[in-house]
Amino acid sequence: MKVLVADAINEKGIENLKQAGEVVVDTDITPDELAETIHEYDAIVVRSRTKLTKDIIDKADNLKIIARAGVGVDNIDLDAATEKGIMVVNSPESTSITVAEHTMGLLLALARKLSIADKSVKDGKWEKKKFMGVELRNKTLGVIGMGRIGSQVVNRCKAFEMDAIVYDPYLPEEVANQMGVTLTDLETVLKNADFITIHVPLTPETKHLISDDEFEIMKDTAFIANCARGGIIDEDALYTALLENKIGGAALDVYEEEPPAEDCKLFELDNIILTPHIAASTKEAQRDAAIIVADEIIELAKGGTPQNVLNMPRIDTNTYKKLTPYVELCEKLGSFIAQAISGKIKELEVVYAGELAEIDNIEILTRTILQGVINPFLGSPANAVNAPLIAKERGISIIEGRKNDAKGYGSLIKVTARTNEETFSAVGTTLHDPKILKVNDYWVDVKPEGHMFIAKYEDIPGSIGKIGTKLGEHGVNIGIMQVGREEKDGKAIMILTLDKEIPQDVIKEIQELENVYDAVGLEL
Ligand code: NAD
Repeated sequence: MKVLVADAINEKGIENLKQAGEVVVDTDITPDELAETIHEYDAIVVRSRTKLTKDIIDKADNLKIIARAGVGVDNIDLDAATEKGIMVVNSPESTSITVAEHTMGLLLALARKLSIADKSVKDGKWEKKKFMGVELRNKTLGVIGMGRIGSQVVNRCKAFEMDAIVYDPYLPEEVANQMGVTLTDLETVLKNADFITIHVPLTPETKHLISDDEFEIMKDTAFIANCARGGIIDEDALYTALLENKIGGAALDVYEEEPPAEDCKLFELDNIILTPHIAASTKEAQRDAAIIVADEIIELAKGGTPQNVLNMPRIDTNTYKKLTPYVELCEKLGSFIAQAISGKIKELEVVYAGELAEIDNIEILTRTILQGVINPFLGSPANAVNAPLIAKERGISIIEGRKNDAKGYGSLIKVTARTNEETFSAVGTTLHDPKILKVNDYWVDVKPEGHMFIAKYEDIPGSIGKIGTKLGEHGVNIGIMQVGREEKDGKAIMILTLDKEIPQDVIKEIQELENVYDAVGLEL
C-alpha cells in the first residue's frame, strides 16, 4: 500500500503506518498538488486541514481508504467517497477520555469557583470568604447521555465518591446496572442532581433539551456543564437562570454560535466558566487518533475490515450493484421507524420480499437499516460495520426473514420494530427513489426525506383540520399530506412532509389536541 499523510499527525502513527507499506509525508500539500497526485495512493490520512472534495475524490482512482485522525469528517465528501467505493474511517474513541477529563476540570472549577478566584488574586485582592466552595463527595451527579464520554465521566466521579443518576432513554437497563448507575427520567435527574453534565449528540430531540422549564426544576445550587454540542442548552434561558440565581453556576465548552458573538450576554456573568471548544484538545488524544487510524489502514492492508468505517463495508461488485439502489431506502426506513416509534426498541424484524429475497449476501442491507435505527441517537454516526455491535450493546435483537411474494413490486422490505410500548412497521421499495408504501396497517405513498411529521388520531370530521390549523398558526407549511385509516370512524394516521423543521412546542400543542393519540416530528 502507498499511504499519503497529508496533515500533521503524531509521529507514533507515522511510524506504525510503515507496517502497511510506503509512507509519504507531505503536510504542506496544496489542493492542486493533491488533485494531481492522489491517484498514486491507496490510503490517505488527514486531520481537518486537507479538504477531500468531490473533485479530488473523483481523481482518486486507486484510493481504498480515507482516514481522519480525529472525529469530525466535515472536510471529507462522504457521498463522493461512498460512490467511489472508498472507505472513510475516523477515531471516535480517541477523544473520550480527554473530553471526560475536561468535564471533570469544569465540574471542579465550578465547585471551587476557580476562574473568578484566579481573576480576583490577579486583580490584587484576597477575598477568601467570597470563594467558599462545595465538595464533590457525597453529591449527586446527573448525567444526560451515557455513551462513550458520559460513562468515562461517571467512572471518574465514582472516585470522587459521587452517586450517579442517568437520563439516556436509549440505554438498556441491564447496561446501566452493569455500569452501577441509576437510569431514570430527565425530570428526576434535573430535580435531584447537584452537578449535571451533558453528553448527548445534538439532534432535533436534544435541541434546547435544557431550557426555561428545565432550569426551573433544578436545585438553586445546581451546577451544569456542557462539553457536548452547542444548542443542547438554550443560551437565553441559561443567561436568565444564572442572572436570577436559579442555579449555582454553569460551564460551557460548546456554543450555539462558535465563536460566540463579541457581545454574548453570557460574558457579563461571574457564575459561568467558558472554554473555547477545547474539550478534545490534548496531545494524548491526538496521539491516540493517529495510532487508531494507522491500525485501521494496517488492518485493511492485511485484508481485514477496519472497525470505524463511516460509509460502507466492501462487498463483491455484482452484489454491490444489485443492492446499491436499496441502501438509501434501508437507511431511511430505519431512521423513520426509530424516530416514529415510542419507547426503547428491543426487537427489529426485517423481511425481504421478491428479488431481494433471492440474494445470498443481503446482510449489508440489514446492517444499513440498523445504522438508520441507531444513528438518530448517537454522537458519532455508526456504520454498516459497527452498527450490529452497537445495536447489540443497546439490547436490540434482530430477526431477518425472506418471502417470495412482493405484491407486484420488484422487491419490498418490511421493517417491524417492537418496544415495551408499541409495535411499529413500515414497508418500502425503491422506484427510482425510496418510497414507503405501508405504515402499520395503513397503505400510503411517502417519500421518506426532509422534515416529516406523523400524527395518529381519531378518524372523525374535523381532526385533520385541527392539526392543519395548528401547523398554519405556527407558520409550518405542509408540502405533502398522506392520510390512511383502518376503517371508517376508527383510528387514522397522517404523514406530512413539511417545508421546515417542526418545533417541539408545536408538536406538544398537537399532542394535546382532542382526538390526537400521538404526534412526532422526524428529520430524514
Ligand atoms: P456516544 O454516541 O457514544 O453517546 C451519546 C449518548 O447519548 C448515547 O448513549 C445515546 O443513547 C444518548 N442519547 C441520544 N439521544 C439522547 C436523548 N435525547 N436523551 C438522552 N440521551 C440521549 O457519543 P460520545 O462520543 O459520548 O459524544 C457525546 C457528545 O460529545 C456528542 O455530542 C459529541 O459530538 C460531543 N463531543 C464533544 C467534543 C468537544 O470537543 N467538546 C469532543 C468529542 C465529542
